[in-house]
Amino acid sequence: MPLNSRTPSGPIETRWDNTKFEMKLVNPANKRKYNVLVVGSGLAGGAAAATLAELGYNVKCFCYQDSPRRAHSIAAQGGINAAKNYQNDGDSIYRLFYDTVKGGDFRARESNVYRLAQISVNIIDQAVAQGVPFAREYGGTLANRSFGGAHGSRTFYARGQTGQQLLLGAYQALERQIDAGRVKMFPRTEMLDLIVIDGKARGIVTRNLVTGQTDVHIADAVVLASGGYGNVFYLSTNAKGCNVTASWRAFKRGACFANPCFTQIHPTCIPVSGDYQSKLTLMSESLRNDGRIWVPLKAGDNRPPQQIPEPERDYYLERIYPSFGNLVPRDVASRAAKRMCDEGRGVGPSGLGVYLDFAASIERLGKQAIAERYGNLFEMYERITGESPYEVPMRIFPAVHYTMGGLWVDYHLMSTVPGLFVLGEANFSDHGANRLGASALMQGLADGYFVIPFTLGNYLASNKFETVGEDHPEAKAAKAQVSSRVEKLLSIKGNRTVDSFHRELGKIMWEHCGMARNEKGLREAIAHIRALKEEFWKNVNVLGESADLNQSLEKAGRVADFLELGELMCIDALERNESCGGHFREEYQTPEGEAMRDDEAFAYAAAWEYKGEGQPAELHKEDLTFEYVHPSQRSYK
Ligand SMILES: Cc1cc2nc3c(=O)[nH]c(=O)nc-3n(C[C@H](O)[C@H](O)[C@H](O)COP(=O)(O)OP(=O)(O)OC[C@H]3O[C@@H](n4cnc5c(N)ncnc54)[C@H](O)[C@@H]3O)c2cc1C
Repeated sequence: MPLNSRTPSGPIETRWDNTKFEMKLVNPANKRKYNVLVVGSGLAGGAAAATLAELGYNVKCFCYQDSPRRAHSIAAQGGINAAKNYQNDGDSIYRLFYDTVKGGDFRARESNVYRLAQISVNIIDQAVAQGVPFAREYGGTLANRSFGGAHGSRTFYARGQTGQQLLLGAYQALERQIDAGRVKMFPRTEMLDLIVIDGKARGIVTRNLVTGQTDVHIADAVVLASGGYGNVFYLSTNAKGCNVTASWRAFKRGACFANPCFTQIHPTCIPVSGDYQSKLTLMSESLRNDGRIWVPLKAGDNRPPQQIPEPERDYYLERIYPSFGNLVPRDVASRAAKRMCDEGRGVGPSGLGVYLDFAASIERLGKQAIAERYGNLFEMYERITGESPYEVPMRIFPAVHYTMGGLWVDYHLMSTVPGLFVLGEANFSDHGANRLGASALMQGLADGYFVIPFTLGNYLASNKFETVGEDHPEAKAAKAQVSSRVEKLLSIKGNRTVDSFHRELGKIMWEHCGMARNEKGLREAIAHIRALKEEFWKNVNVLGESADLNQSLEKAGRVADFLELGELMCIDALERNESCGGHFREEYQTPEGEAMRDDEAFAYAAAWEYKGEGQPAELHKEDLTFEYVHPSQRSYK
């Protein structure tokens, strides 16, 4: 399968404008003749559905929650980047582009990243026009704070609820279209298959999560905005419902899966506290603006933090990376925390923790100022741990947070299945091997509000669509497959719960394909996952029935997909004999323990093609060229 990225040429500043100009347009009067399915109502899907409907297309939008406004985007805390340069601190579109390509360890497509930086400024205007209550300075201008991997302050925020406020903006735009009859919303509806007819994505099969009914939806194009797959690790900062099913079923219908092993481990999460925990909690990266990270200088020093005097503390990020200090990118901060804990200097009962200390900022700025910036995060931390960050330092440890991998898309955000577009965290596009903080919201909204309205129109205007009914043989076959899979899951009646399989998979993934990976461990993990998958299909016990609300059944389908994805992630990690960004192969590191890339051999996006049950997926490589930001050893020192 040849990968055509449709990356434009010419000066990078003009590429998106020229592409837009060259695109075909759909006549306004014809737009209502086209039907579009949008799977997902988070920032990417909600923005896309609202915008496409506003343009005049007939849109159906799907989500598995009871309301579009419960999409996982609502959890985003810290902020959204934009190259507005409101702080007059030297920021620019080019600098955001540069930081993102470098932050992604030179494994992203330059053209996409530049477009993202360009569009970032429009997003803020759009959100402000919608009434999103961004934090403001005393004089009324929008406020900014800093996130990792950038020297300037370009992160716009609404206290610790930025995702929620942005989602309310997108949701209101979506509701307006629902009210106008241009979007039909299907909450509590899960996409379980993609329908491909004559090589084009023409529909989906869904299951109504309340009644269990399966349905076929036919359209002219399908937009997937179904979020990330971090929950393959079982424990992650993602909402419990986040899953890979929509993307995975599309993969099995011909959409290549790119860079599945690129996972982001976020440095500031509340440490794991016990075996029965099912969820990890993020403490936003914004806290690193004012919190200082440290561990005791001596291994095994388990005095309470207040009793450890300054000279016996190691503010290791400030020491190792004086230029960026506590605001180094996430991959760098996470690995440094792991190194400290590996040296026996970790804190807390498990020894898997480091301190994030606000004492100096409280002394400098006052408690009130800190409460205004982070009050809700401090409260959340105190509710979970019983400790007040105003009094004692937070304890934090890295945890799975975001997935840079996803379905492969070209510059138009179209997958390898024509007519299947993929937006937001579900695609692999813009962050390379490591995403900079506050850039996911930016990407989801850029894709949904500003890219897809053009590229989808171009696709519709450039293609002819045969009339297809819900009784088309491909649609009927896909629906029958969905039903038989559901029946199969319910019929096994084995001895193990779905959760026990998920938990075991998560442990394998964390141990062998988590913060550090090596060849031996990855080979072991692949064998282990294969055996676990075999056992799953013989021994899982899915309670309840299909014609009913059945969360055990929902989870079973998702875990079955995670098992297959987990294997592909390990295969991808094994194949990539280098370290880059969040993919840290222990065999490939500098003497200081930093990631060592191999640009000669691995400057490509790995796009895996499904070749059938029991067959190995085939690797296709999209070579990455860097005309503007030349690959170098990343340094934050
Ligand atoms: C705790 C936390 C804090 C974060 N904070 C920030 C931050 O401050 N700044 C930042 O830039 N990023 C942040 N991120 C990352 C960011 O929130 C996400 O990457 C982003 O919101 C993803 O948006 P999305 O629209 O792609 O997907 P989501 O918001 O996850 O939406 C997915 C949608 O797809 C639907 N869906 C999924 N599968 C199916 C299916 N099979 N059938 C039907 N519907 C389906 C869901 O119902 C949902 O509507 C944070 C992430 C976490 C976990």
